[in-house]
Amino acid sequence: MNSGHLLAGAGLWLLSAVLQAQTPPRAWRVVVLHPTDLYSRNIAQIDAGIRATFAQVSRRVELFPESLHLPQNAQNLSDVAEDLKRRHPAELVDLVIANSSYVDDFLNRYPNLWPGIPRVHLGTDISDTDRVFGPNATGLKVRIEMEATIDLAVRLQPNARNVVLVGGAYASDQHFLRVVKRHLAEKYPAIQVRSLDNLPYQRQLEELGKLPPDFIAMYLTLYQDSTGAYFDIAQLAREIAQASTAPIYYSQISGVGEGYVGCVCMEWERVGREAAVLALKVLQGQNPESIPVPPTVRGPTAVDWRQLNRWGISESNLPPGTRVLFRPRNIWSEYRWYVIGAMGVVLVQALLIAGLLFQRAKRRRAEADVRESESRFRTIADSAPVMIVICNAQSNCEWCNKAWLEFTGATLADSIGLSYDSHFHPDDRRSIRDASPGRPLEMRLRGRDGEYRWVLCTQTIRAGGDKGFIGSGIDISERKETEAALQKNRAEVAHLARLSLMGELLASISHELNQPLTSIRTNAEVAQILIGRENPDLEKIRECLADIVGDDYRASEIIVRLRGLAKRQTQKPVSLDIESLVVEVMRLVQSDALLHKVILSVQREDNLPLVHGDRIGLQQVLLNLLLNAVSAAQECPPPRRKVAVSVARAGASVQIDVRDWANGIRADKLSRLFEPFFTTKPDGLGMGLPICKNIIESHNGRLWAENNPDEGATFHFTLPISS
Ligand code: ADP
Repeated sequence: MNSGHLLAGAGLWLLSAVLQAQTPPRAWRVVVLHPTDLYSRNIAQIDAGIRATFAQVSRRVELFPESLHLPQNAQNLSDVAEDLKRRHPAELVDLVIANSSYVDDFLNRYPNLWPGIPRVHLGTDISDTDRVFGPNATGLKVRIEMEATIDLAVRLQPNARNVVLVGGAYASDQHFLRVVKRHLAEKYPAIQVRSLDNLPYQRQLEELGKLPPDFIAMYLTLYQDSTGAYFDIAQLAREIAQASTAPIYYSQISGVGEGYVGCVCMEWERVGREAAVLALKVLQGQNPESIPVPPTVRGPTAVDWRQLNRWGISESNLPPGTRVLFRPRNIWSEYRWYVIGAMGVVLVQALLIAGLLFQRAKRRRAEADVRESESRFRTIADSAPVMIVICNAQSNCEWCNKAWLEFTGATLADSIGLSYDSHFHPDDRRSIRDASPGRPLEMRLRGRDGEYRWVLCTQTIRAGGDKGFIGSGIDISERKETEAALQKNRAEVAHLARLSLMGELLASISHELNQPLTSIRTNAEVAQILIGRENPDLEKIRECLADIVGDDYRASEIIVRLRGLAKRQTQKPVSLDIESLVVEVMRLVQSDALLHKVILSVQREDNLPLVHGDRIGLQQVLLNLLLNAVSAAQECPPPRRKVAVSVARAGASVQIDVRDWANGIRADKLSRLFEPFFTTKPDGLGMGLPICKNIIESHNGRLWAENNPDEGATFHFTLPISS
């Protein structure tokens, strides 16, 4: 062989290899052989299962479904075999799927049809045989659930005592009859069993129509009846169910919906799928005999809800996991979770809405309460005779009442935001700022006419922390005026009292002394005349002088007597609490002191003893000393405008000191203070201190004055303790 030949050979080999690689492998050809009509529902389901599985592999599988059309063709099966051989020559067939033992028998009878072609069996009932698949074959062990369907029927109708079986004369019909009868006899010996298989089909229907409703009827198979007539078992199913007047059962899922109560069903599509899986393994080169046979799986239990209802069969008798078909669709069963979900959403929404409504109602109630309480507060505040201003933390007005607006003459709009202090007298603003809460202060507030009037003010801290304060005020200007007038009156009364005392004293003195003095003057004049004569009558002159002496004595006596009288008049001694007397008198002087901005204070010892004395007289003494001190203090600048009274025990007496911080008493005047008519005041009388001294001394006490070492003067008086 030369090199040219070699090259040509290699080229051809390469070309064929490339062509082989590019040509897709031939499709597998599979004949599926069914015993009966290809269009029956069970067979269609098997086919669907096979096709679905083959569709999943990459290599194409060509399926050729064929039917033996049993039992119609039972007499001319050789023709059928010939026909199949002609249409599917063995060279073109890779695998045969044989459905049922009838097909199995057929293939065994005509071994030349597809010699050596592997087989996969399905639908071969092995409930009464332990059939072994032949050489070069594998398959599924299918169980037609006749017995399980009988068990279901007895479970659903526990009171049934009779079972009637619809069956046929064909070999497979008889096979199932045997299986069922044996099962009933073994498991339910008390139940009467009647088989209608010996009757022609129509007669079986008539018998079914006579059954009482507490019977169990069951359709097994009816390929051929006792007369030899052939039937399509699936086509009969509906007619048989309609004829029965007792609940009837059929072991095919297709019966559920055609009038049968239910079954433990064959799932033919699954059978088809499992058979196709085995087929693929064989096609891919596995030895069929070495492929393990998959375990038998029992199909589901299914019932027709309408039949349960029709026969009054309780759902509680159903085995767990039963599929209840044809239950009327209601929203609840169909969309239970949607409905529950929606209801949940609606409920949550409703709760939210209810919550919001509740909150709103609560808020509205609270707002209404606040409004009502605000309006109540405003009504009260507006009708109160007190001025009220609500201020924020910066002391600016937030709200004020009618009384305030009437007093200041401003409108509410103008007042809001204004500083509280700005309404007061500049001298008082500091005291407002320093005022301790709740303590009343007398302050000057500017009225609508621009004039300042006296107001008693209090500031109360607003609740809730640093929120400002509520200022309230009462117009006390009238009271102040009245007090001032009263004070003036009191001073005048005191002055008049002194005057009248003096007047009385003078009148008494003049009256009492007038007579002896007139008599003295008369006697003296007579004596003058007598002395002027030439011969003075000495005797008469002596008489006159004796009368004068006598009258003089009388006058002295009168004076002594008057003094004694004065003493008796002022003394109405009682046991006195000097402390309360001091407080009383200070209260009298208070407004006068306020008027002149003089600060009064008092200091007293605890447990002071009582004194013996005349309350009016002693009041007059203290009043006089205090008025003098206040009048001295008001001449001074404010820090020195103060008067302090102290009451303390001093040996067997109680000593009262009235101290001021004024200008004191000039040294040359100190000794003359207690002289009657000594005064430094333009409108003074100069009788206060002498009368005081008189009164104190009449109480066996002592009154004296001295300048203080620092500022001002102190007047002291003592009163003996009451025994
Ligand atoms: P009057 O008050 O009418 O002048 P008084 O007898 O009460 O009469 O007072 C006499 C004088 O004593 C007063 O005019 C005043 O000069 C002086 N005097 C009284 N008390 C004080 C005092 N506390 N400080 C200074 N001088 C005083």
